[in-house]
Amino acid sequence: MEPFVYTGLPSRVVFADGARRRVGEEVERLGGKRALVITTPNQRADGEKLQEFLGDRFAAIYDNATMHTPVGVTEEALGVTGREGIDCLIAIGGGSTIGLAKAIALRTDLPQIAIPTTYAGSEMTPILGETKDGAKTTQRTLKVLPETVLYDVELTLSLPAGLSGTSGINAIAHAVEALYAQDRNPIIDALAEQAIAAFGGALPEIARDPADRAARQQAQYGAFLAGVCLGSVGMALHHKLCHVLGGTFDLPHAETHTIVLPHAFAYNMEAAANAKSAVSRALGTDDPARALYELGTAVGAPRSLRDIGMPESGIDRATELALANPYFNPRPLERDAIRALIAHAWAGEPPGN
Ligand code: NAD
Repeated sequence: MEPFVYTGLPSRVVFADGARRRVGEEVERLGGKRALVITTPNQRADGEKLQEFLGDRFAAIYDNATMHTPVGVTEEALGVTGREGIDCLIAIGGGSTIGLAKAIALRTDLPQIAIPTTYAGSEMTPILGETKDGAKTTQRTLKVLPETVLYDVELTLSLPAGLSGTSGINAIAHAVEALYAQDRNPIIDALAEQAIAAFGGALPEIARDPADRAARQQAQYGAFLAGVCLGSVGMALHHKLCHVLGGTFDLPHAETHTIVLPHAFAYNMEAAANAKSAVSRALGTDDPARALYELGTAVGAPRSLRDIGMPESGIDRATELALANPYFNPRPLERDAIRALIAHAWAGEPPGN
């Protein structure tokens, strides 16, 4: 066996139907007496319902969590945290809400309980992205890793079918790139393969019936594992491309990942035999790039970058940016092939054509 390094992430995970009902005892476990519940305006009702399970440990609710964790919002929430004498944070929502709890924890060292309601996986990572004056910075520190995560399938039933599909494929992208990461290891390889298999089975079922509880639970399990992958090892070409495309053309995050993933994987898979085999096994196919493309079709996701607003004239600019600031990738970055990859994704063609 090849030598490897594995660093475990210290978090407690409760994965159970109705897990949110245990939030009071989990706050107590962390020594909390005055908890702040963090949500978005959309999910305020879910946040309010936690009061029942928190009893007198509920201190306040802050419902202004915002996409991309703007520092101004964090400062406002820090004001509430100080005024209310908060000693524990509870984030109930997706990556945006969990991002705000992380940003507060970074500045206060308060313990966090994350109750995720999407498949983004931020709850399992020591990563925080923040924006200030339009610029995004990302850092990796254990200070932001939530101490406790409660996975409760009921909270995902309201996630709209379209967002479920693209959020799930976004999570698959974390698992796929973990399989060929520079710092990959056999533990994360095993989790990544299981994550892809869980989503591969669940997402088409959820697209057919968003209330399918068993499929929802499989997807949530996949989200947990894919989050561990993202939090544990480095990412490569696919994430770089999505970052460049999203930032330059203001494209929606999960849809961009869904469109680009089959193409980025087709580019890399012959240089990463283990990843090709693992994704093939997970999706039950001998053409895994094509299977990732078909999964996007099965969940009704947009098929092309053109459809989500990227101009054709942007293909050359995106190619330049993807080649700037070299980074690890299993296959060297070849200008013509990268341009062809982006052009295929722009046109919505199947990968490798
Ligand atoms: P989100 O948190 O932005 O949520 C999108 C919208 O959906 C919000 O209005 C939210 O209230 C609503 N919503 C969430 N769950 C719902 C549900 N079950 N039912 C109905 N509505 C629901 O979306 P996201 O995709 O979870 O998170 C995206 C953000 O998270 C991005 O900013 C991304 O960069 C970040 N992220 C960070 C990490 C990390 O490790 N730091 C990992 C993944 C994503």
